[in-house]
Amino acid sequence: MINITFLGTVSGIPSLNRNHPAIVLEYFSNYRDVFLFDCGEGTQKQFMKSDLSFMDIEKIFITHWHADHFAGLIPLIQTMNLEKRQKPLTIYGPEAERFVSDILDLGYFGLRFPVKAVNVPFEGNEITTIYETDDYEIQSIPVLHSVPTVAFCFKEKDRWNIDEKKLAEFNIKKGPWLKKLKKEGEIEYKGKKIKIKDVGYVKKGLKVVYTGDTKPCENVGKISKDADVLIHDATFLEEDVSEKAHASVKDAAKIAKKVNVKQLILTHISRRYTNLDELEKEAKEIFKNTIIAKDLMKIKVK
Ligand SMILES: [Zn+2]
Repeated sequence: MINITFLGTVSGIPSLNRNHPAIVLEYFSNYRDVFLFDCGEGTQKQFMKSDLSFMDIEKIFITHWHADHFAGLIPLIQTMNLEKRQKPLTIYGPEAERFVSDILDLGYFGLRFPVKAVNVPFEGNEITTIYETDDYEIQSIPVLHSVPTVAFCFKEKDRWNIDEKKLAEFNIKKGPWLKKLKKEGEIEYKGKKIKIKDVGYVKKGLKVVYTGDTKPCENVGKISKDADVLIHDATFLEEDVSEKAHASVKDAAKIAKKVNVKQLILTHISRRYTNLDELEKEAKEIFKNTIIAKDLMKIKVK
């Protein structure tokens, strides 16, 4: 299961009730992993307003180095330090090594926990796996903004589940051998060879994509194919698009439809829109299952 919490949902200039971009993704298995995507100004205070703790963050993923997406890193790292964080923190992003090093050099403070930076590719059309465990992987792909920018994808791995009816057909009892069967694909049970495909089925892993800032982009479609959730830049309504660095509500809805995502969540909304119904209506004309993100909104993905 995945929880997504939107800590900030506005575009370049914040408003009184919308903060700069920051999205928390919690992955639940028999453990909980917590990731932060973008970290705009005020992110640590948004954490305090939510039911989450910034001390739980394992890794941070920055889509690009515009202040609305990273300025919260400076105070967040220093607060973690004051709160005596010891576990390492890894920050991923295009040119992350350079910018994280700059951030750590700012002001007077002695860092007491390891902060590692990992550069991710920001040119070309390849999907790159930047972090992987037995249960999931985190990927990136370059997108189209005015500076080097990437989209990120959290992708749970497909896994075998056991079909209890088939177990009964094969006369197999439940027990630790099923774990082995799922892991190794084949076991010997009472002198008979049993294959996982005889008694199991593949459960597709969950997939969540966050585009960061981008104008309509083929690479977003590529990494979002059949995603459970696509969180897309939707800075403007179609009629207000005046610059070419962002997507409109319609652009995002068209991509969601084209690549068959289950749910579209629009974020990075310009402060000029106070009535979000208008945005929702425009998106839903193209893609029905659309939500407009609000600060502190939480979504469960199962
Ligand atoms: Zn932005």
